[in-house]
Amino acid sequence: MKDILEFYGQLLTPELRPVFLAAVFVFGGCVGSFLNVCIWRMPLRESVVFAPSHCTKCGAHIRWFDNIPLLSYLILRGRCRSCRAPYSSRYFWVELFTGGYFLLLAVAAGSDHAVLPLQFAAAGVVIAAGVIDVEHGIIPDKLTWFLFLFALLVPALTGDFYGVAVRFASGAVFFIVLAVFAVAGRKVAGRTALGWGDVKLLSALAAAGGVLPALYVTIAASLAGVAGGIGYALIARRRTLSLQVRFGGFIAAAELVWLAVAKFMPDASRLADLF
Ligand SMILES: [Zn+2]
Repeated sequence: MKDILEFYGQLLTPELRPVFLAAVFVFGGCVGSFLNVCIWRMPLRESVVFAPSHCTKCGAHIRWFDNIPLLSYLILRGRCRSCRAPYSSRYFWVELFTGGYFLLLAVAAGSDHAVLPLQFAAAGVVIAAGVIDVEHGIIPDKLTWFLFLFALLVPALTGDFYGVAVRFASGAVFFIVLAVFAVAGRKVAGRTALGWGDVKLLSALAAAGGVLPALYVTIAASLAGVAGGIGYALIARRRTLSLQVRFGGFIAAAELVWLAVAKFMPDASRLADLF
């Protein structure tokens, strides 16, 4: 496996960099297309793997050439080929955002390609989890488990079993600490401030990216969540402040900002190496 990684590493020469970056964008668009399937089906508890794509209005099977990320939406002008029912433009924007964001990560990573698989996985999971939580108020366990297991798989593939243990411990420790906060917060406030879906997602992010970065993301998301709650109360002119925000969207935003800027914070990443 290590030899294979080195072989592909040699392919990533400066001359081939534009090709690599273009491939990353296309790959991101395909991932975004799959995230759309997750966003639509996971809250309905439908399989995201073992059912072919179909129109949600007329049920017509969507053929492969009508299922090309970004292009098909533009060619069909966001409508079903069979019944002409309009599709939500969200499909297009999720694909474009994921492609563009993956490209940004690849540019930020520079020659440090090894960080990209886990960053792509973390980004994909928080994009889907964020949209689903904002719309439905849940974070599907499948997304969280995928990220946690992927975080263990990446070091395992290169035979780095110490790395597997560190990632497992990072996720477990983070889960225990946040679980204490969640239970204590519920006792003190008398209502759920930090849901179990949030606790599990943040723990998976700790396994994927380290304890300290996950702590930054938790704090940033909390501050943004409180600010968002106050802002909503002001706009809606409500006298009582509801802290019952759908936190997944804030976790997603904080993680996406962190992944994009982490590389440029050398002191933070050196500290993170201790965990
Ligand atoms: Zn249709």
